[in-house]
Amino acid sequence: MTVVDMHTHFLPETWPDLSQKIGGADWPWMRHDGAGRAMLMLGDKEFRPVQEACWNSARRLEDMDRDGVDIQIMCATPLLFGYQRPLQHAIQNAQLFNDLALEICAQDPARLKTLCQVPLQDIDAACAEASRAFNNGHVGVQIGNHVEEKNLDDEGLVTFLQHCAGEKIPVLVHPWDMLGRERMPKYMLQWLVAMPAETQLSILSLILSGAFERISRDLKICFAHGGGSFAFQLGRVDNAWRHRDIVRQDCPNLPSSYTDRFYVDSAVFSHDALALLVKTMGEERVLLGSDYPFPLGEQTVGELVRSQPGFSSRAKRGILGENAMRFFDLEAVSSKSEAMLA
Ligand SMILES: [Zn+2]
Repeated sequence: MTVVDMHTHFLPETWPDLSQKIGGADWPWMRHDGAGRAMLMLGDKEFRPVQEACWNSARRLEDMDRDGVDIQIMCATPLLFGYQRPLQHAIQNAQLFNDLALEICAQDPARLKTLCQVPLQDIDAACAEASRAFNNGHVGVQIGNHVEEKNLDDEGLVTFLQHCAGEKIPVLVHPWDMLGRERMPKYMLQWLVAMPAETQLSILSLILSGAFERISRDLKICFAHGGGSFAFQLGRVDNAWRHRDIVRQDCPNLPSSYTDRFYVDSAVFSHDALALLVKTMGEERVLLGSDYPFPLGEQTVGELVRSQPGFSSRAKRGILGENAMRFFDLEAVSSKSEAMLA
C-alpha cells in the first residue's frame, strides 16, 4: 500500500522581498537564525519559529522514511494567503508561492506533492489560479475557511467550490484568522479553541445554508483537524434541527445526513476522538493528515492510526493511504510502509 500524509505545510527557504516586488507593507518573510532554525516574520514582528523541514526536501524525505510515509501533500501556511491584500498583489503572491512549492517538490515529484493557494477575495481570480496551478502539477487547492466575514456558504465561495467540482480539483479547507482572538492572547488558545470552532463553523455553514444541496456531488472537499469540533457536536446540531424551525429553514435534511458530502483528516491526537470520527464520517472519509512539521502536528506521522484499537486492517489501509489516493487521484509509489502496518 501507499501511505499518504495529506496535511503537511511548507515554507520556501527564501523568497523575494514582497514589499519591493509586489508593493504594500507587512508581508511575511523568513529570518534565518542558523542550524536549520528560522523565524517566520510578519513585517518587523516575530510570528512563529520554524525549522528546516519546512523548506528542505531532503529532510522531509528522511522524516517520511522514518515514519513510513510514501507521499506527502504539502500546502502553504495560512499566513501566506494574502486574502486581505489588494487583488493584483494577492494574485502575484499566490502565483509566487505556488511556483516555489513546485520547486520544493521537484526533488522527488512522485513522493512530494503540493496544493496551491488562490486569491480567494476575488472568485474569478481564484478560479483562474486554481486551474493554472492544477494544470502545472498541483494536486489540489488549499483554502482558508473564511474570507473576512464570509463563510463558505457565501455565494462567491460556493461558485469557487463549484468551479473546483467541475474541474475535479480537490479542496482542503484549513482554519485560519481565528475568531475571538482578543480573548485568546495566551497559551495558543486561538489554535486550541478557535481553530476547531472555525472548522465546525465552515462545515455547518455549508450544511445549514443548504449549500450542499446546490453544489455538485463531484466536489471533493476535506476539512483539516478532523473537522474541528464538528463530530463531537453533531448530535447537538441534529437535535437543534429537529426542534427549532430556524435551524432547518434552509436545510431540508438532517444535518448528520450530509456527512457523505465531505472528508476530514485524522489529526485529532486521541484514539477515542479518532474512533468517534470514523464512526461519524465512515472509514472511507477520514484521510491521514499530520500538520507536519509543526509542533502541534503528529510527531510520528501515522502512529495514531496504526495503533488504533478496534480498527480493521481495511480501515487502517484506507485511512493511511487508499482514501487519499482516491481523493487526489494519485499514482501509487513503491512502498516502504507495508511492514509498519500493525
Ligand atoms: Zn495545518
